[in-house]
Parts: sequence; structure tokens; C-alpha cells
Amino acid sequence: MYNLDMDKYCASCGRIIEKRKMSEVNWQEMKYCSQTCRVEKLEKSKLGTLLENEIMALLIERGAQKSICPSEVVRKLFPENWHDKMEEVRRAARRLVHRKLIIITQKNLIVDVNVKGPIRLKLKVP
Ligand SMILES: [Zn+2]
Repeated sequence: MYNLDMDKYCASCGRIIEKRKMSEVNWQEMKYCSQTCRVEKLEKSKLGTLLENEIMALLIERGAQKSICPSEVVRKLFPENWHDKMEEVRRAARRLVHRKLIIITQKNLIVDVNVKGPIRLKLKVP
């Protein structure tokens, strides 16, 4: 199980950054998991922000106990080509986990952000 305070997340794609192959100092300063993420800076992109906001809006509208599928968010925003945006919305969801706003679940269990396969999103209730 992951630990929100111990693990390090990529600021762009929200994946957990592996500590291996790095000096302690480099790891402390590391913000992105890859060169691509460093260049794209999704957390600062228009689409990234739009997706984060839409996830939060939909979750709040649904209520604390309910979950949503990330595809609902992109289907609503991009009815024509929502499928192309699935990875983007998953990245936005991971960033929101990092900010302790939501949790990711799979078969009703909380899972870590690097999980593969279908996921659902829920508001994080203290
Ligand atoms: Zn990344």
C-alpha cells in the first residue's frame, strides 16, 4: 500500500516515482518521472486543469459516497473523441489524489495511483 506522505509523485502524470537508480539528493529534488512529463507539465496545462476541475465538479454533484468513472468526465467534455482523453483524465485524477482531494478505487477498494485497469474515483472524506 502506498503512503501519501512518504511516496513521491510526478507533478505532471501523478504516477509514483520509483526511488531506485537515484541518489538521495536527486530524489528529494525530483519533480517529474520522465523527460516527457518535465516538458509537458500537464499540471499547468489548460486541459489538465479543465479535467481536474471537471472531476471535482462531477464528484461534488454526485455526493461523498458515490463514485464516478473517469470516462464520464471526458465523455461529457469531449463527446466526439473522449477515448483519446482517457489517459489525460487518469493523470488528472492521480494529481488530485496527490493533493488529497480524491481516492482511486477498484472493485470498491482503495488502490494506489499506479494501478492498471478500470478505476473509479471518489471524494476523499476525512
Ligand atoms: Zn510523470
